[in-house]
Amino acid sequence: MAWWNLPGLAPFIDLVCPPRCAFCGADLPVTAAGGPMACASCADAISIDSVRCGSCGEPVPSSECRCRGRCSDWDGIVVLASYGDAVRGQVLRAKRPAGESVAAALAGLLVAKHRETFTVWRIDVVVPVPMHWRRRLARGTSAADLLAAGIARRLGLPHRHLLRRRRATPMQNELPFDDRHGNVRGAFVASRRAAGRRVLLVDDVTTTGATLAECRRALVEAGASAVYAAVVARADRGSAEGGRP
Ligand SMILES: [Zn+2]
Ligand SMILES: [Zn+2]
Repeated sequence: MAWWNLPGLAPFIDLVCPPRCAFCGADLPVTAAGGPMACASCADAISIDSVRCGSCGEPVPSSECRCRGRCSDWDGIVVLASYGDAVRGQVLRAKRPAGESVAAALAGLLVAKHRETFTVWRIDVVVPVPMHWRRRLARGTSAADLLAAGIARRLGLPHRHLLRRRRATPMQNELPFDDRHGNVRGAFVASRRAAGRRVLLVDDVTTTGATLAECRRALVEAGASAVYAAVVARADRGSAEGGRP
């Protein structure tokens, strides 16, 4: 165990470096250490969301959803927020160099909001949607990877790169909705280490769900026993924001 994790030392470390909101920099109470690292007003502004179907993520209650509680693309999905100005700004910050603390705070909000669901899902491993290595080389950071790391840490679960992109694909946000499923079809391959595992797939933003669905298909082919999805922001089709990510 690293010395800074020794029980009893945390209060002293917090006195030297008081916890701050990762989004606005405001001081947080010392008791907030280990929590979501967001002040209440940022947490409220960022987490604005609709009531959603827990199976497919559509912005309607599960009981009224046309999926009737069974989604063919994954076994369940949780979302932190509807894609709007506040969350968009933070997702962009998380992608930039040194975006780790913002990504960790977004992961903290997501886990705080959906902890019960994560427990019910009995997840074995947290897996990010992968970025193609060439894009990663150009960008440096993958927001999905940082978010997966933060979620895994808070849930006490392993974080593994069990998916890889077979080929680079044009960015989904540069394509019309109807072309997005074809764009990513067959783009991912999963490790055999997914066999028999209950996987939580993590991404920063989703719109049509095409990327998540293809990742799930690869994981199921590799033998995963269940694939759930967690995304920070979902841009709903037909909303003013729906065309952006
Ligand atoms: Zn704040
Ligand atoms: Zn549904």
